[in-house]
Amino acid sequence: MKKIHVLLLETGKNSNLDSYKLGLDFALELDKKDALAPYRQQFYIPRDSSGNDLIYMTGNSLGLQPKSTKEYIDKELEDWAHLGVEGHFKAKNPWLHYHEYLTKKMADVVGAKPIEVIVMNTLTVNLHLMMVSFYKPSKTKYKILIESDTFPSDRFAVESQLRHHGFDDKDGVILWKPRKGETLLHYEDLEKTLKNQGNEIALILIGAVNYYTGQYFDLKRITELGHQYGCAVGFDCAHGAGNVKLDLHNSGADFAVWCSYKYLNSGPGSLAGCFIHERHAYRKDLNRFTGWWSHNKATRFNMRNEFDQLPGAEGWQLSNPPILSMAAIKASLDIFDQVGMDALVEKSNKLTGYLEFLLDSLEESIVKIISPRNTNERGCQLSIQVINADKKLHHKLTKAGVITDWREPDVIRCAPVPLYNSFEDVYNLVERFKGILHEG
Ligand SMILES: *Cc1c(COP(=O)(O)O)cnc(C)c1O
Repeated sequence: MKKIHVLLLETGKNSNLDSYKLGLDFALELDKKDALAPYRQQFYIPRDSSGNDLIYMTGNSLGLQPKSTKEYIDKELEDWAHLGVEGHFKAKNPWLHYHEYLTKKMADVVGAKPIEVIVMNTLTVNLHLMMVSFYKPSKTKYKILIESDTFPSDRFAVESQLRHHGFDDKDGVILWKPRKGETLLHYEDLEKTLKNQGNEIALILIGAVNYYTGQYFDLKRITELGHQYGCAVGFDCAHGAGNVKLDLHNSGADFAVWCSYKYLNSGPGSLAGCFIHERHAYRKDLNRFTGWWSHNKATRFNMRNEFDQLPGAEGWQLSNPPILSMAAIKASLDIFDQVGMDALVEKSNKLTGYLEFLLDSLEESIVKIISPRNTNERGCQLSIQVINADKKLHHKLTKAGVITDWREPDVIRCAPVPLYNSFEDVYNLVERFKGILHEG
């Protein structure tokens, strides 16, 4: 594995690319052979005003709606209409246990044990709850290490935790930065930082897949390193869940959080996931914020004042959760459960590899892929830098029916999602992109 890695870095190319060919026929042939192709029919693909399917490449921002979602939500609306409060016990899927219907399938998606996973709140809220438990600063060991291109919400959350504990929010943040003139991060640099400052760092919080570059980190390696220096280690998996095989349990991470509206297709602002490693499942010494949903299910409704902590990730819940949002998650997880992460990632590598191949074959030297070339170090997203381009390029792409995401100053993020994007989508994306570049 190591050898391949070095080779790829040296050549700057993904060696699997030789198997692809140019031309629309090849894309159509790949679609024909694709076992997951029928899943596209299970999603609503957004259309332009003339009724043509858009080329939707922003499943990393908001995943598309499964056609089944409405039915799942309607069922709960119906039960609410007919049963009122009794729905907690008598609905077809009794609401009292609703989060439990999601746990196993969500745990499978992120490679965790059911006791380690809970669907609750939203991502940034969960991040704070995890820091309440796992960010335990002392006077000398209080700093938080994040990657320099961290998603703004994570950075703001970290800074506010520092202030909350009475620390300076500038001095308390340590950045894992790319080297000069580079965009991806090197583990050696992280190792160096820990060697020099590990005794000051209380928490390491890294985006498992960086939202900007698409770099997928070695979670186990980072966790082992952090633990070696006595740091708690957590991951934000917003861009990882449903995209790569996270294997959270084996990573050994203390905690992880993710949202369900990106690759997990559960609707705008839908509930988030949270992972707390099994070794913390029965701990009573951890700080935590609690509510009635953290309390023993058997005695919850006795409404007594003696608190009895639920074991596992469930014990971090606060409130009774929104059933309508969980119904949308259930609809989506049923699809993930059918497909499985193995098949999904297999197609994903092919689909994104195809995009990489087509981009590499462009003659324009101003187009540069800044995401990792090694398929083990990325998910489906490719971040494409177009040197000297500005936002007009993005407007033109949108006008041409290609929905991508623009990041200043000059990066287009494209995420061909294996559940609903086709090889033909990728072909058309690059053709239209090429056309726009030629226009100048
Ligand atoms: C999408 C995303 C968020 C968004 O946070 P919400 O609380 O769901 O609004 C936060 N962090 C990362 C890394 C993200 O990718």
